[in-house]
Amino acid sequence: MDWYPVFWNLRDRPVLVVGGGSVAARKARALLRSGAAVSVAAERLGSELRGELEAGRIAHLAGAYAGEVLHGQCLVVAATDDAETNHRVAGEARAAGIPVNVVDDPQYCDFILPAIVDRSPLLIAVSSGGRAPMLARHVKTWLEARLPRSLSSLAELMGRLRGRVKERFATLPERRAFWERMLGGPELTQIDGHRVREAWRDLALGATQAPPPVALVGAGPGDPDLLTLKALQLIQGCDVVLYDALVSEQIMDLVRPEAERVFVGKRAGGVHTPQGEIQRLLLDYARRGLRVVRLKGGDPMIFGRGGEEAEALVRADIAFEVVPGISAANGCAACAGIPLTHREHAYTLVITSGYVHPDGSEHDWSVLAKPQNTLVFYMPLHELASICAQLAAHGLPVDWPAALVTEGTQPSQRVLLGTLESLPRLAEERGAASPAILMVGKVTALAERLHWFGAPPVVEDETSARCEAVYALL
Ligand code: SAH
Repeated sequence: MDWYPVFWNLRDRPVLVVGGGSVAARKARALLRSGAAVSVAAERLGSELRGELEAGRIAHLAGAYAGEVLHGQCLVVAATDDAETNHRVAGEARAAGIPVNVVDDPQYCDFILPAIVDRSPLLIAVSSGGRAPMLARHVKTWLEARLPRSLSSLAELMGRLRGRVKERFATLPERRAFWERMLGGPELTQIDGHRVREAWRDLALGATQAPPPVALVGAGPGDPDLLTLKALQLIQGCDVVLYDALVSEQIMDLVRPEAERVFVGKRAGGVHTPQGEIQRLLLDYARRGLRVVRLKGGDPMIFGRGGEEAEALVRADIAFEVVPGISAANGCAACAGIPLTHREHAYTLVITSGYVHPDGSEHDWSVLAKPQNTLVFYMPLHELASICAQLAAHGLPVDWPAALVTEGTQPSQRVLLGTLESLPRLAEERGAASPAILMVGKVTALAERLHWFGAPPVVEDETSARCEAVYALL
């Protein structure tokens, strides 16, 4: 170990940052978070530090660096862009017995500033001893993504309960067993403040712990990087996951290996698990006290039947939570370069389905067929031609722009750009397959210019010219 890690109480202690630029600002901000009284010695303050000064959070010692500014400081950080000045600060601080850090110059440092994962009072400091700062940052980011914010409240709570636990459990092994029971297993990453409080109260009263709520979790449109942190924490801590066909393999790879996986979707040629059966399974697993995750593509409450499952859980008096996911509409739009709203082109967003409604009723086409609307049709393939024809029949021009995105957000994403007239033909020619989403509206034509992800959009030759013509008209 080249450096000995310590956590230093700097509350209200005078510390000095030498330098006025953005690096100095970053260091000053980190010190401010610990409650230190930060002075900045610099001829000029950059905009970030000026902001801190105006907010009354730092003091400014103006003028060129001179040794006197070190007087009374308990810690110094040299962060100017001039190595010579930094080294002078280091020499003079050391001579005055004040620990010093020179940014990016470990050989001149008495101490280094680690990357911090702050779940105060729990703190994790990561350092590579100045040798591989990028690696330290990477590890920090990795930890940030995996450690829930609620660790703060957990740590606070454990601090408050310490005395009581000591009273109740006389010996150290007993106390240790008690804490370990609380913290054991993967659920540590799932504890949120509210649940912690409940669990602790129950334990303190000697009551049995309430079963964990069933989690209805959105897995997003396929790209595992588009999972929410909460979704990741839940799938890494569950006992059983009931998942749909739309949940990608890469996402299933992130599920806790010991968890039971129950496929309740429909694969090509396979049989659909009836909704009633899915609900029955959810209740069964939950009643066994297991941590149940119901994992759905996109968002659980958008064409995901999450509402029905939530209702079944309420009827059975089983607690649940809902973790939203990025729905196909916004995932596909973002990755196809289609702004769903745009000041100049669209201010109403309609999310609907291409399927005929279960009650047999039709869309109100004249409401949908408006130039200011962006229309997003989920499950559009069956009815693609008829949707486009209806929109044209109810007021939109036949050369109104439309896009079909298949396997959006995934490396295999394809975007077909056309018009109400050409898109069904284009989709057929190109063999567009599920999952696909249809977007209709002026904004879809922007994908030609704004696409940034995956293969460039497929545009029928005359489509571009026609879209331009539509723009010219409006
Ligand atoms: N709950 C999901 C929707 C489930 S319905 C969500 O919020 O996204 C299934 C339909 O969603 C598919 O038929 C398709 O229209 C759309 N869809 C889901 N993922 C998609 C993807 N990656 N690319 C294109 N369409 C997708």
